[in-house]
Amino acid sequence: MDEIIQQIRDPKLLLQIEKVVPFHGYLSTGAFIGIQMFNIAKKVLDLQDGERIFATCETYNCLPDPFQVLGGATIGNKGLKIADSGKMAVIVNKRAPAGETSVRGIRIYLDPDRTKKYPELHAWYLNTGKVSHKEAIRDLIKAGEDAYTYEMVNVEVPIKLTKCIEMCEKCGESFVRYGEEVLCSTCTA
Ligand SMILES: [Zn+2]
Repeated sequence: MDEIIQQIRDPKLLLQIEKVVPFHGYLSTGAFIGIQMFNIAKKVLDLQDGERIFATCETYNCLPDPFQVLGGATIGNKGLKIADSGKMAVIVNKRAPAGETSVRGIRIYLDPDRTKKYPELHAWYLNTGKVSHKEAIRDLIKAGEDAYTYEMVNVEVPIKLTKCIEMCEKCGESFVRYGEEVLCSTCTA
């Protein structure tokens, strides 16, 4: 893998890889795809460094991590959601202006029609052959944005519910309730 990284000349991309590797554990193909998707979103949405972003990843696999470590969109700060459909795709948007119920975002996906031109990447993507991360990433570097298709989409802004704290009548622990429930979800199940 090191020899692949050494071929990268873009210092910004190298810095991003340096941040993603310890966070994710290693440079996987999916994590590299996440980095490239983050950079497309950054460019198209004209994101400034440190600007708040919201990302909805369509898979749990690798992809969410670059958005957490490079974009600061985490599960805990509600910047990151996973809508798992098993797709190598992400929707990214900025914070909506006050009072708006929707905001323009970008949906980016790794497009099999485009990865066709890059045999190792394509075989990795469709799982039709044994391809190492090294080989797949080599193709991703070659392809750059050419492996992706993206379009602008409307993203609904989630309605902020009033937070009420309830004591569960069964286990006695406190929990956040949004409706009329008197038992926590653990005790309801
Ligand atoms: Zn309970």
